[in-house]
Amino acid sequence: MPELPEVETMVRGLRPHVEGRRIVKASRCRCSYRPIDISPGVRAIGRRANGQLITRVRRLAKRVILELESDDAFVIEPRMTGLMLLSDPPDRGHLRFEWRLEKGTTKETPLSLWFWDRRGLGTLRLYSPEEMLIALGPARLGPDALAMTLDDWRERLPRTQRAIKVALLDQKLVAGIGNLYASEILHLARIHPEHPSHHLKASQLRRLHNATLTVLETAICYEGSTLADGTYRNALNQNGSYQNEHRVYAHADEPCPTCGKGTIQRTVLAQRSTFFCPKCQRRDA
Ligand SMILES: [Zn+2]
Repeated sequence: MPELPEVETMVRGLRPHVEGRRIVKASRCRCSYRPIDISPGVRAIGRRANGQLITRVRRLAKRVILELESDDAFVIEPRMTGLMLLSDPPDRGHLRFEWRLEKGTTKETPLSLWFWDRRGLGTLRLYSPEEMLIALGPARLGPDALAMTLDDWRERLPRTQRAIKVALLDQKLVAGIGNLYASEILHLARIHPEHPSHHLKASQLRRLHNATLTVLETAICYEGSTLADGTYRNALNQNGSYQNEHRVYAHADEPCPTCGKGTIQRTVLAQRSTFFCPKCQRRDA
């Protein structure tokens, strides 16, 4: 968390307020917690970013990208608890970075964009186009989960014998899916999380492709999931609401809402909690 739907929601929230505006000053916030990973140094960032126009805001897998007119780009990875905010942060103590923006045309136009991060595991980079290609080019990052075609799934999954749930989290194979949505996607696709990826049948691959699009697009419509820890917020510091639609994630021991017969199980795969219904998602299917 945040995964693809949450980061997409952040990007959509930022875009109308940030694209086409100039950075007055990009700087690290005073923060008494362990500093987050920022590179290059804050002075080099200031030299390269201050005065630059933000030409485009986009999402790359689970990262927010701010493209500058110089062709440099900020790459912000929220990881566990990071947020990109235009409005009042949950608290000021965990503000990590500020982009002060030129004055807008109305009083309501936000003057700052912030990166806020409670746990401080998020990262912020300023990359040249060459650095971007090395760090996040096709050799490092698979196709976006929303751009994956059925042929992409057919071509990429037979390359691995790992459990499908583990493969879905491999960002080189498919980018943007994290632990929460992997469980929800496999449930909708009626695939057991431990099913070996290279043994998925044609019908299962078709269902996986459709379920990925359905779950992620619906979650974007609901502006993502705000879990019990309450951390994730959209750019205006409001909750998402897809958590109310989760069918299996964090619902262990509850009756399955899909079939009404099974009981949701929790298991651990590659050290990550995994939720599924043993009736809808049969191991021998
Ligand atoms: Zn079920």
